[in-house]
Amino acid sequence: MIKLFFTGTKGEIEEQNKKHHYHSSLILEHRGFRLLIDYGEIQRDLNKIKPNAILITHAHPDHYVWTKKQIQTKIPVYLTKETLNYGKFKPENWKIISSGKKFRLESFTILPYNVIHSIKCQTVGFKIFADKKIIVYNPDLVDIVNKNKILKNVDYYIGDGASIRANLVRKKEGKLFGHARISTQINWCKKAGIDTIIFTHLGKETIKKENEFRKKNPGIIFAHDGLRMDI
Ligand SMILES: [Zn+2]
Ligand SMILES: [Zn+2]
Repeated sequence: MIKLFFTGTKGEIEEQNKKHHYHSSLILEHRGFRLLIDYGEIQRDLNKIKPNAILITHAHPDHYVWTKKQIQTKIPVYLTKETLNYGKFKPENWKIISSGKKFRLESFTILPYNVIHSIKCQTVGFKIFADKKIIVYNPDLVDIVNKNKILKNVDYYIGDGASIRANLVRKKEGKLFGHARISTQINWCKKAGIDTIIFTHLGKETIKKENEFRKKNPGIIFAHDGLRMDI
């Protein structure tokens, strides 16, 4: 069994409520090892959530506090070279990972993969294998590079909840950036045969229309701060 704990579920927005106060991040725990993905500016105390390792998707400050502030911790922080070089500060114990290169942390096997999201901040998602389950976590994205391959055999999709209907995809010099709609991501999952679809990183529109959308789409899970799931 893997224990999921959504420590935060808010995107990079001013709006917040009790359910979505902290910036989006997730703990996956298997055999006592706690893997934290992303650690943004508005976050819980590391001494309280006690991760054994931290993975970072990209350098936007709602995912990576070191872009703006120094935080002292001995916990290893796994990130790409581009993310490390972007921030104003650096974690003390950084470890470089590369897109397309699988690595192991205790009983987790982790594949970072490229997603399209930002022109300035190179961004990855993580395909995580543990306990015979496959999870993808991509809280910020317009699209996944090699999507069919990445979404193959996935059991749990955890995606970008920035918008339900609002178009947040932008284009500059031929390059896309921003956020894919929730409905677009649901279509990817249906095509790939993924059963469990969860959204985190909720945006302004999603927070406003969350209850309405939930009623119409009972099969879709919206994460909230503090949500725990055993999978
Ligand atoms: Zn974000
Ligand atoms: Zn971002």
